[in-house]
Amino acid sequence: MQKITTGVLIIGSGGAGLRTAIELKEKGIEDILIVGARKFDDAHTVLAAGGINAAMGVMDPNDNWQTHAVDTFLEAQQISNPLLVEKLTKKAPEAIEDLLRFGAQFHREDDGRLTQRFFGAHSYKRTLFHGDTTGKEIIRVLVAQSNNLDVDFIEDLYIFELIEKDGKVIGAAGINKVGESVYISASKVVLATGGYSNIYRRSSSRNRENFGNGIHMAFMAGAELGDMEMVQFHPTGLVYPPSAEGSLITEAVRAEGGLLKNNLGERFMKKYDPDKLELSTRDVVARANYQEIKMGNGSSNGGVYLDISSRTEEYLRSRLPAIYDKVMKMNGINLSKDAVEVAPTAHYSMGGIVIDKDTHQTSVEGLYAVGECTTGVHGANRLGGNSLAEILVFGKDLGTHLSQCDLSQKEIPESLISKIESDIENISDGEESSNVLLRDTRDLMWRKVGIVKNMPELDSAIERLGEYSDRIEKNSIAIETGKQEFIRKSHRLNSVIQLSLLIAQSAKLRKESRGSHYRTDYPNSNDEMRFNYIIKKEGDSYTTEKREIAEPTTEMKNALGTISKTQNYVHLE
Ligand SMILES: Cc1cc2nc3c(=O)[nH]c(=O)nc-3n(C[C@H](O)[C@H](O)[C@H](O)COP(=O)(O)OP(=O)(O)OC[C@H]3O[C@@H](n4cnc5c(N)ncnc54)[C@H](O)[C@@H]3O)c2cc1C
Repeated sequence: MQKITTGVLIIGSGGAGLRTAIELKEKGIEDILIVGARKFDDAHTVLAAGGINAAMGVMDPNDNWQTHAVDTFLEAQQISNPLLVEKLTKKAPEAIEDLLRFGAQFHREDDGRLTQRFFGAHSYKRTLFHGDTTGKEIIRVLVAQSNNLDVDFIEDLYIFELIEKDGKVIGAAGINKVGESVYISASKVVLATGGYSNIYRRSSSRNRENFGNGIHMAFMAGAELGDMEMVQFHPTGLVYPPSAEGSLITEAVRAEGGLLKNNLGERFMKKYDPDKLELSTRDVVARANYQEIKMGNGSSNGGVYLDISSRTEEYLRSRLPAIYDKVMKMNGINLSKDAVEVAPTAHYSMGGIVIDKDTHQTSVEGLYAVGECTTGVHGANRLGGNSLAEILVFGKDLGTHLSQCDLSQKEIPESLISKIESDIENISDGEESSNVLLRDTRDLMWRKVGIVKNMPELDSAIERLGEYSDRIEKNSIAIETGKQEFIRKSHRLNSVIQLSLLIAQSAKLRKESRGSHYRTDYPNSNDEMRFNYIIKKEGDSYTTEKREIAEPTTEMKNALGTISKTQNYVHLE
């Protein structure tokens, strides 16, 4: 067993965690530790492909933070927190300046200006990029900067419990790669643990990450969660081979001229959004793909066709090199000649941990959150390119706030450590296979709590998830591969089942369609439901609350002007 004490413990070494750590160090705070479940430079952020938004007005001088804010708020179907949106859009250009200072290389025009490209539902060319490996480039420079600043880190450490005393989070317990338990006492604990889209069978995440376990730990510690039903389905994931199912074909392909076609050769987005076509909001394009496939207009492998053969190989190699190679390797298709088959895939979680707009504290003292594990910025739908901006802007903001806090340390009492140690000692071998239950849960979520929902399917999903939950409690899980792997797997499975229940319950409560949440039994958005659903643990159960959308500042109100509140939906079955 290891015991460590630190001022700030950051759980998660994606863009959000790293940026928080860098800011703390740059503000002179030495006593910080960052931990991650994988290698330090291999968090989920490395997958980010298409780019990062900042209204710098390089390509379109008319762009400004106000327009970026309007695009964000509209895509979010007006249930995001306007105060967070204002901060994000005002500070995004500064986040880019910081990245450039750390050495990031973004695509530039021949005259040296930073290139900005269109992304879906943006009013202007606003998205900066590094080919189609923007996330990798961002992590490269954040890791380098963290190393320059001597940020302490532990990789391959899986945190399975937040430790609380007197209603305050005072540390965390984890298990390292050699199976030792690790107890970390901290004055402040930051969750930067990413989202939960891998709860769905078809997801754009990699194996073993993005299961939302940080969000579940926050819930168990008493933190409020918001809008858990809001899961973004990206329109274009690969449909084959099975090993690559759901893997993302970035929106940048459509931004660079890719067209969506059905098996009749029709450019079907003309029916669903004749103005914005392939660059409509993600929810609209994803549902259009879903509908075409359901109507029998799909491809032989159950997708639709994404066709960017109007671009030369040279162009694709310069703008979309990773996607060009991936499709060639996975599907044997040369994108400059043929179309690739794609279908919707679970991609991003807008729901998550509720934070204070200034301090980023959760509703539990001592516990903070940043990045995709939080909720607030993206409402019912995330504008492509906004997540990378968010993790950098709010990571910096949180680091600045924490640098001004009292970070004096408190030790985790021995009695709490002994309790967890004895729980680990007493783990007994059970009957249920965690792999099978995880597969079944993800499959269930995809079929019944997915891109199109309705009450009977939600009820049946809730009943089945309840059975899964009972099964792991009664029969417990089989220890298949040693205690360390067992703790990771059983913890992950339990969070997946419990979070799935919260998602399905929230989806049931929201009796309307809004953004990525589409219900065939309530196929329209309802102005009276323009609020956030908050869920909080209460004993062995939970409470729900409808919370009013925060009041915008006068500046933001002026920016928003008079935008229509109601979204029109093409009705699906
Ligand atoms: C394929 C793909 C493409 C994308 N493209 C874009 C894009 O072009 N533009 C854009 O803006 N956004 C994009 N996104 C979204 C964006 O990449 C993510 O939202 C963002 O990177 C999340 O960053 P994060 O720091 O919050 O979390 P992550 O990068 O997910 O990091 C989470 C960290 O937490 C750690 N962790 C989790 N649980 C535990 C635990 N129990 N114990 C210890 N550590 C733990 C993980 O190991 C990891 O280090 C894309 C997403 C995907 C999947």
